[in-house]
Amino acid sequence: MGKVGKEYVRCNLCGADDYSVLWAGKETALAPKDIYSSSKGVMGTDTLVKCRMCGLIYANPRFEGDVIVDAYAEAEDEVYISQAENRMDTFRRGLDFVEKKTGIRGGRILDVGCASGFFLKVARDRGWDAEGVEPNKWLVKWGNEQFGLRMKAATMREAKFPAESFDVITMWDVLEHTPDPDAELKEARRLLKRGGFLLVNIPDSGSSFARVFGKRWWFVLSVHLYYFTTKTLKAMLEKNGFSVVVRKRYFQTLSLAYLIRMLKHLAKNPVGSIASDTMGSVARVLRMEKFPMTYYAGQTLFLVRKE
Ligand SMILES: [Zn+2]
Repeated sequence: MGKVGKEYVRCNLCGADDYSVLWAGKETALAPKDIYSSSKGVMGTDTLVKCRMCGLIYANPRFEGDVIVDAYAEAEDEVYISQAENRMDTFRRGLDFVEKKTGIRGGRILDVGCASGFFLKVARDRGWDAEGVEPNKWLVKWGNEQFGLRMKAATMREAKFPAESFDVITMWDVLEHTPDPDAELKEARRLLKRGGFLLVNIPDSGSSFARVFGKRWWFVLSVHLYYFTTKTLKAMLEKNGFSVVVRKRYFQTLSLAYLIRMLKHLAKNPVGSIASDTMGSVARVLRMEKFPMTYYAGQTLFLVRKE
């Protein structure tokens, strides 16, 4: 692949082209395929701007949308797979929440950006008619081989499902990665039955974590093209004909070792780095590396309904 350029984009929420620069990105020699694998942790390569009209924060300029989706399609992600049990535990609680708040059990569900299909497996095992789309071919192949799930190696829009196909659509840790979230929400609305539900979670850049840590917040990663707050996401959901049913903090379960790696992300000074290395060694000695931890790190979840 030859050298690919970056493009300037307008605000995805209000369409304005009027922004202030929050911080400038650093030049990188990394190819898009080395950046857009969700667990690689590359950061600081894009300039982040804030729309002066509506407050949406986004990477600008950035690689072209097609280049980003192609890079996702080709990446391999062993690190994601390594957290299978903990991720399924998180998804079991996620599905509990969906069933409780929607009153639906065993309906038709679409998981967008389903990765290796952990959520689909949890849903199918509880009697849902579950389907998934995921641009990453490697993850789809892995999930199909492990679990025999119905997954398409495609984006939601490429998959071209018929209108009003689903009772519930879930987007776990997805929207901030997509080049055009407004178009994704529009498509989700088209695919939902009337009265159907959409679940979206985001790293909330209005959360106290984000404000305290700034650039060092663990969700500040080059794979994230958008930094929503509850305000900007709510506005985009309502613009696309959804009404909010529930908004709440979102808790995730991951291993201690994984959390220590996240802490290291914060530790750009020698003291912090030694501290996280020491924690890593202690965890290994105590054989606690796989110890599951349920934590809140500044994520917010929206459950919304198609009007
Ligand atoms: Zn705007």
